[in-house]
Amino acid sequence: MRDPHDISTRAVHVVNEPPDPGSRPLSVPLVQSSAFAFDSADALAEAMAGPDGRYVYSRRGNPTVRALEKTLAGLEGGDSAIAFASGMGAISGVLLALLRPGDHVVAQRCLYGGTYAVLSDLAERYGIEVSHVSGDDAAEFEEAARKPRTRLLVMETIANPTGQVPDLPGMLAAARRLGITSVVDNSLASPVLCRPLELGADIVVHSTTKYLSGHSDVLGGAAVFADGELRRAVWPRTVELGACADPFAAWLTLRGIATLPLRMREHCANAAVLAERLAARPDVSAVHYPWLAGHPSYGTARTVLSGGGGLLSFELAGGREAGRAFIERVRIARLALSLGGVETLVTHPASTSHRELDADALAAAGIGAGLVRVSVGIEGVEDLWSDFERALGAGGGERPGGWGHMSLLLG
Ligand SMILES: *Cc1c(COP(=O)(O)O)cnc(C)c1O
Repeated sequence: MRDPHDISTRAVHVVNEPPDPGSRPLSVPLVQSSAFAFDSADALAEAMAGPDGRYVYSRRGNPTVRALEKTLAGLEGGDSAIAFASGMGAISGVLLALLRPGDHVVAQRCLYGGTYAVLSDLAERYGIEVSHVSGDDAAEFEEAARKPRTRLLVMETIANPTGQVPDLPGMLAAARRLGITSVVDNSLASPVLCRPLELGADIVVHSTTKYLSGHSDVLGGAAVFADGELRRAVWPRTVELGACADPFAAWLTLRGIATLPLRMREHCANAAVLAERLAARPDVSAVHYPWLAGHPSYGTARTVLSGGGGLLSFELAGGREAGRAFIERVRIARLALSLGGVETLVTHPASTSHRELDADALAAAGIGAGLVRVSVGIEGVEDLWSDFERALGAGGGERPGGWGHMSLLLG
């Protein structure tokens, strides 16, 4: 039958039938819609009342984004989740939603730079006090806490680039005792290697940009809540902030998550081999990888994590020049700032992100002049090692017998 409407009307109102309930798509449908249509004013008004009603507007909720939120809550063992536009969106959203002027925050000293910056900014502009602690000592945390002003404890499962694995069980138990809400950034471990909610955390935050999506093609973040009340308290603030996940980004992240456990296995196995071989070279003065015996967090890492992760760093005895030469000589590994993707990435803070700092300032920041950070990908490990050996140049390779005590155990 001929459609009687104008061609402009027909072009706008394309065929858009609800899915046939008898034939469900295998992949999560991408609902790339900013808003949702209703048949009655009452139904729309009712849907607007909270986070769990029908979809109204995609800043408040979207079916593809909801699929990601439910998947992440399931992976982390949480009650529910909120997906964000980026990891920083998730971290800023949670901090802004929960903190008020006059509150006190205790945070781990070695934190992701962006998190450190938001906390400093909140301290300066909103009268929020921040104390930094090592994260390895629950007694130090209890001493730093100021009841009842201490509102949040902020931690990370694996810190970057030191590979520090703090004492999450001890710190989270202390936070529970003191009635302080705990937030743990689990981006570097992913729920495959650690599930902080199972260790007593209240909120887990993620940069899903990293291992969860895993292919360096999307930005995203998430907060996963142990308790639905906490999510309902945070949700309205995040809707106001507008740092919501885009449906296509959520869809790409869901696609990446399917292979997360397989990828993590390869990241961990490759990183362990590279860490061990780097540690055996005379031109490498230190290797920082929590799964390597001798790392300060080795004991904790073995109990808190089920693998060492994909991030390692090492210090070249040749200092700044050697670090710069290494990152410019690699061919398979790429020089880029992110981490957690399938490809190996290297960076040298002293000649990139921290190039303005002189030797003393670098030392104060805990960054060696020859420190190279590696996000180990899932390429063939022998190809990666050949690339590294070539980039390191002559003068290494042989393995002095003294390193025999280095044991790398996966599992
Ligand atoms: C990258 C990263 C973030 C920030 O995430 P974005 O997605 O870049 O906003 C936060 N925490 C950690 C540990 C990260 O590695």
